Amino acid sequence: MGKEISCLKSYILSAMLAEAISYGLQRKSAIGKQKLSERCFTSFLGFDGIKRSIRKARNGGYTMIIIRNGRVIDPKSQTDAIMNMAVDQGKIIAMGPDTEELLRTSPAAGTKSDDIIVLDAEGLVVAPGLIDVHVHFRDPGLTYKEDIHTGAHAAAKGGFTTVVCMANTRPPADNPETLDYIRSEGSKTGIHVLPAAAITVGMNGETLTDMALLKQHGACGFTDDGLPLRDAALVKRAMDEAVRLNVPLSFHEEDPAFIETSGVNQGEVSRQMGIGGASALAEDVMVARDCMLALHTGATIDIQHISSGNSVKMIRLAKQMGADIMAEVTPHHFSLDETAVLKHGTLAKMNPPLRTELDREEILRGLQENVIDIIATDHAPHSVEEKERPLTEAPSGIIGLETSLALAITNLVHPGYLSLMQVIEKMTVNPARLYRLDKGYLAAGADADLVIFDPGELWTVTEFASKASNSPFIGDRLIGKVKYTICGGGIVYQDV
Ligand SMILES: [Zn+2]
Repeated sequence: MGKEISCLKSYILSAMLAEAISYGLQRKSAIGKQKLSERCFTSFLGFDGIKRSIRKARNGGYTMIIIRNGRVIDPKSQTDAIMNMAVDQGKIIAMGPDTEELLRTSPAAGTKSDDIIVLDAEGLVVAPGLIDVHVHFRDPGLTYKEDIHTGAHAAAKGGFTTVVCMANTRPPADNPETLDYIRSEGSKTGIHVLPAAAITVGMNGETLTDMALLKQHGACGFTDDGLPLRDAALVKRAMDEAVRLNVPLSFHEEDPAFIETSGVNQGEVSRQMGIGGASALAEDVMVARDCMLALHTGATIDIQHISSGNSVKMIRLAKQMGADIMAEVTPHHFSLDETAVLKHGTLAKMNPPLRTELDREEILRGLQENVIDIIATDHAPHSVEEKERPLTEAPSGIIGLETSLALAITNLVHPGYLSLMQVIEKMTVNPARLYRLDKGYLAAGADADLVIFDPGELWTVTEFASKASNSPFIGDRLIGKVKYTICGGGIVYQDV
């Protein structure tokens, strides 16, 4: 063991030294020799090293990464402390105040990677890679809006290392071939792209898919998101099957019976605009039904993109009664109310719509009380041409991956509604629990999926890695910026 330790240590130092020499940065200084070489490595050699790391991660190779002096926040262990972390072979191999000591005692001591990168995370937060359980990458079929690769880039830029793709592609993900395609393309992106499968064939709301077969082909859950399921008996059958297969079901709750015009709340703003609007009742009646069905069947269900205050109250009650329910809210539903439609037009049109300030306040309370467990973006890219159509004709939905964390920090943490720990919990370990993923936490031996962000950096929303730019937040000044995203031990995004 002792031999391996000194071997590893000298390997780290010699690698740093070699890099420094090759860049002509090796010079005498009043500060210690080791400290200088590390500093040079971080500030001058980091970027090339990072590019190598991205290339290697994609090729299945690994670079050891040492993250120094970051504020490590891990909701699962309730850790919030300054420490170092070492990452190698796709795993966190050590974390603690003294990385070298940990490396010496780590089971991985003695392993040799080809390269070492030191990231200086002083002043930055190191958290589990974010998990978004609700994205639309439009692939296959609608790739003029987004594709799996651009969607994954947008995710990595937003600090996400795992995303769950909704099933409403063309064709829908109701068959093994489409699921295989999404997983195969997703595996080339550097992040974890997981497909959800449709609950009904062709998302027709009438015939259940072969859920067992689709689970075998990698479906991590089931949803007809985008469309409501109107047949309560079919929903009950889907829940019974989900219990048998131990998979979650996610529901888009909008009863068309109470929607005159989709994407805009029925109320003061819709009256001003002279359109019918979509009543909050459309959401409330379906949430009530599915809460009771979940209680009855014992299924794990996810109520997607909560918009109505009454829904929050009903989910609170159903959870108290013992139903296994998790609930999502989008950054736009906790950040904006219906008046945003007057300002942003189609860029504030989404299903379900932005509602009143009273609804938003109830959502904030739901977040504080853990009635709402998950922040999910409902990242819904559309083309510029589509969003330039008149309000009643333009498609609903906005992108969200690249602004989600900053909106949570700006609109939840900064005003004091939630702590940073609570926000990270709703973007990591809670969504992992819903989808039964062994992810969303930091520990030696855990997957090296990480986000490193500056919790105080002010920035202006201007451009996107997504193919689309349909966001009402363009031009806004937000707090909190992602600096690095590390997935499977490789750096997949760096803020330059
Ligand atoms: Zn939806």
